[in-house]
Amino acid sequence: MAANWKMFKTPAETTVFFTNFLPLVKDAGNCEIAVCAPFIDLPVAIAATHESNVTVGGQNLYWAKEGAFTGEISGPMLKAIGCTWVIVGHSERRQYFGETEETVLKRTKAAIEAGLKVIVCIGEVLAERESGQTEAVLQAQFDGGIAGLSAAEFAQIVIAYEPVWAIGTGKTATPEMAADAHKAVRALVAAKFGADAAGAIRILYGGSVKPDNVSSLMAQEDIDGALVGGASLDPVSFSKIVNY
Ligand code: PEP
Repeated sequence: MAANWKMFKTPAETTVFFTNFLPLVKDAGNCEIAVCAPFIDLPVAIAATHESNVTVGGQNLYWAKEGAFTGEISGPMLKAIGCTWVIVGHSERRQYFGETEETVLKRTKAAIEAGLKVIVCIGEVLAERESGQTEAVLQAQFDGGIAGLSAAEFAQIVIAYEPVWAIGTGKTATPEMAADAHKAVRALVAAKFGADAAGAIRILYGGSVKPDNVSSLMAQEDIDGALVGGASLDPVSFSKIVNY
């Protein structure tokens, strides 16, 4: 269960969040919990979650290790401060910051080389769904952004299927729609990386996951977890999702 805080919370607000959140999820069994926070919140988040069952990640990275790249943060930097995870290819980065399949692949490889685990996001926009192109879009994103990984690299990623029209809109994909997309993604994994990898890969659903819809989504065979934006900002709400 992964939180994506997007561009929300100051370090002081981060401290308050974890003070309230950690006791609520301390008994969450059989579930990995990650919070992907803005860069400036990461040191506070990492200190707060030390020796807890929650790990922390960034929301983006640049693929060079270091250099003249003003404003960027590298994989080794995230690793050095204690991050476990990083999100790559979120639809907001694709939409507003020019992320492409090529840059998704570069960032994913750089993150893995730095020792991070990666949540790679894919998903269709509304016009693509409405014109029946969902599976073709997922295939193109998979082929361009994930299929270029080696088997060893692939073992370090989690895929998040996020229909873009469901992100932050309150419109959730029906469990059946999500299930179909997850099944299609798992089939792409099987074709490229084999049946064992397809069985082992965790595929998260993201898009307006809330405490009251998480159970029906998680009941679907191919949905292994959730990437949660808005509902992860409140400790009680995110704890209900984690403990569904
Ligand atoms: C997200 O940011 O990845 C996301 C799924 O957001 P929300 O839960 O707010 O739709």
